[in-house]
Amino acid sequence: MTVKCPTCKKEVEFGAHDFPFCSERCRLLDIGRWADEEYRIPAVSPPFELQPNEPAQGGGTQDDE
Ligand SMILES: [Zn+2]
Repeated sequence: MTVKCPTCKKEVEFGAHDFPFCSERCRLLDIGRWADEEYRIPAVSPPFELQPNEPAQGGGTQDDE
């Protein structure tokens, strides 16, 4: 029975030393990836600086014409 290495998709035999990873390197890479995901979740809310730049509507003051 084989599974695919979650990191590089290479086939790994059941019971391998680093199962389900094909190697220690892939195992560490996967752990690192998850740790990285965790770090990307901010502990506090980010400042709202990236709001879409939508023009305010309903003002009724158009001086373009
Ligand atoms: Zn691998």
